[in-house]
Amino acid sequence: MIELYKPDMYKKSIYDIDYKKLKNYGIKCILFDLDNTLVPYTKNKPSRKLKDFIERIKDEGFKVIIFSNSNKKRLTPFKNALEVDCAASCRKPSKFKFKKVLDEYKFLQSEVAIIGDQITTDIFGGNRMGIFTILIKPISNEEFFYTKISRLIEKKIIKKLEKKNLFKRGNYYD
Ligand SMILES: [Mg+2]
Repeated sequence: MIELYKPDMYKKSIYDIDYKKLKNYGIKCILFDLDNTLVPYTKNKPSRKLKDFIERIKDEGFKVIIFSNSNKKRLTPFKNALEVDCAASCRKPSKFKFKKVLDEYKFLQSEVAIIGDQITTDIFGGNRMGIFTILIKPISNEEFFYTKISRLIEKKIIKKLEKKNLFKRGNYYD
């Protein structure tokens, strides 16, 4: 089902999302992908801008969890600097870790959103799980080897989505 690859919202970056709108939708918990969503994968600590941003989101009452396919070692400096919870080695698009987090934190699917830069992992995984999905443009062109491969698959999926007028790269929407 190609519809499972369509994000519910599409924005240029995490800074362009209307978080009040998410609040109004009933979202209480935000799962953030790390690499190329919050930071380029070459960075191992957050910028001042990102720190301030996460602080603001937490102040607005959102539970923030970094939800990444990267391992614990990669996530720990961000967990400490941003003072957020983390789920490592999530193997998105698998539903397993999504379920675990929802269970552990006692959130309903309707109360959780995922924000990420990859259709094949973040968006497909989130949609399969029935949570709110938000795609953003990757921060950088530099990517892991495996990400480069999944981008090839993503390209084909985007073509199919475009054919059905479901999605077009660069056409942002709420
Ligand atoms: Mg990513």
